[in-house]
Amino acid sequence: MADTSTPPLKHILSLSGGKDSAALAIYMRDRVPDMEYIFHDTDKELPDTYEYLGRLEAYLGRKIIRTNFGTTFDHLLRTKGGMLPSNHRRWCTEYMKLAPFEAYVGDGPCVNYVGIRADEKRVGYISHKPNIKAVFPFIEDGIDYTGVLDILNRSGLGLPPFMTWGRSRSGCFFCFYQQKIEWVRLRRKYPELYEQAKAYEKPNRTNGNIFYWCNDESLTDLEQPERMAEIERNWEKKQERLKSQPKNVPLISTLGGRAHEAQQESACLICQL
Ligand code: SF4
Repeated sequence: MADTSTPPLKHILSLSGGKDSAALAIYMRDRVPDMEYIFHDTDKELPDTYEYLGRLEAYLGRKIIRTNFGTTFDHLLRTKGGMLPSNHRRWCTEYMKLAPFEAYVGDGPCVNYVGIRADEKRVGYISHKPNIKAVFPFIEDGIDYTGVLDILNRSGLGLPPFMTWGRSRSGCFFCFYQQKIEWVRLRRKYPELYEQAKAYEKPNRTNGNIFYWCNDESLTDLEQPERMAEIERNWEKKQERLKSQPKNVPLISTLGGRAHEAQQESACLICQL
């Protein structure tokens, strides 16, 4: 006889390697004892992300399950004719993050814990499968940016290491959501990863066009010393302007990059929360 029993309810928290999902994991640790923590590994993450997840795992006292997507980014890129993913061609998230998440959940009932904060209105890629119910504990409990920093500091975990050298986001080292200043910083911190990203900028097989991660500028042009210096100067000027603008934003938020975050609301939740 066929088994008609309903599968047990799963509680799942997807970690991106970023601060908000890490803080949520800490926040939920004692509230949902049977939580499953998962991380969708693209194999193109920053070394900082793996290190941070290792420390989080130790804090939680629970294994973080790593999913994979059954192939490689390079293979997917070939199937796309060499067209690099971009804001308008965001196939990477779908194949490398969302599909493994949905495969892991399966068809049984699932509560998916999402770390959007009370002070943000982010939209992005989350699953809309009918068996998956997304919940937002930080929104429900009024936990904002300062609250997240507080959770991370009190736990001793702190911010993800990549934030100390000025990168705001987790996700693939070549993520096209990076600002130019972040590419400059990647070039300085991990020149070998920058080289790898640069190597993807070559004519595609379909029509010979070259796609750039930065859309309008190649990484070869961007890494010229005078260009990097210019990007850094422009970024400094912009920070000065931003600091003098929002009167009601706490200083820690500005220093921590919140002003920058506000510009990134369309970035994908599953990669960068
Ligand atoms: S981090 Fe960026 S490049 Fe990587 S899957 Fe997400 S959107 Fe794509």
